[in-house]
Amino acid sequence: MAQAKIRWGRLTGALVVLAFIAGGVKLLTAELPPALPQARALPTLEALPPLQVCWLEFSRSEVWGQLGTAGLTRTGTWKNTASGLLVRHPQGDVLIDAGYSPNVREETKGLSPLTRLFTAVALNGLYDKSSVTAPLQRTGATVEGLKWFIPSHAHQDHMGGMVELTQVPVLLPPEELELIRARSPAVVSEHAKAVEGRMTAMAFEPKPYETFAESFDVFGDGALVVTKIPGHTPGSIATFVNLSPTRRLVHVGDTVSLTESIERRLPKSTLIQFFTDGDTHGAGGSVARLHQLHELAPELHFLPAHDRDAWEKFFGGAPGCVSAR
Ligand SMILES: [Zn+2]
Repeated sequence: MAQAKIRWGRLTGALVVLAFIAGGVKLLTAELPPALPQARALPTLEALPPLQVCWLEFSRSEVWGQLGTAGLTRTGTWKNTASGLLVRHPQGDVLIDAGYSPNVREETKGLSPLTRLFTAVALNGLYDKSSVTAPLQRTGATVEGLKWFIPSHAHQDHMGGMVELTQVPVLLPPEELELIRARSPAVVSEHAKAVEGRMTAMAFEPKPYETFAESFDVFGDGALVVTKIPGHTPGSIATFVNLSPTRRLVHVGDTVSLTESIERRLPKSTLIQFFTDGDTHGAGGSVARLHQLHELAPELHFLPAHDRDAWEKFFGGAPGCVSAR
């Protein structure tokens, strides 16, 4: 009897040690394999129009840094933001992302229980909440002046505000348009309904841009250029905003949670991947490609949708606007 107890004790001990080793290995080997070597296709930035770009913040929260990346995260606290990027172009304003819907609590009732729980936890931590129109107006812009809404992807914390902006045309990659049309469970049905009949598919061209094979130039003048970074959703995009040849930013949506992921070639944390990524493997490939771009073009400012520190570094504060210098 006593011997059997000792055997069980040893077995349990060995299993605990193995679990610790496996956990340790996972934490220390989280780095993604590098992207295949790729030459840069340098964009033409000589004849850019006068441009202004503004940070509209819709809500914020603080999250344990370890949830920001896989492996051992160096960011202590992940300052989380739900924000929109307003691009003020001579031909009209463009809004990238619109935050949560004011009706988010009722809308999430249709989601799966697990997604509902994840959303409830995320919503409970939010503060400084505002509608999409208030920060827009504070920058001097108007709803009527919005030429396009471009979602970085179709998830609810990026599309929800469209239930308020009922007249603004929506421009998005064919893959994301299809996701919405097919009423994917990744898209809240109220949001799919809200944008029905006003979506236009971006006409991507096989024209290399930076390290990407395809691109879509919104105004055809090099100021606002979109490339594809699939994985988080099939039509997730990286949007380049070029204020001047030296002042450039790229909004990368939710492909990473923190800039640290791009710098260290780390995927998002396992928990956030599980709840938010449609295709984990594809998302990892896109992170590796962003890391590659960061190495080749260190002057580019990367803007992950939810990394408040990255927004603050570029804009100083919210709402805030930056013009070409
Ligand atoms: Zn998001």
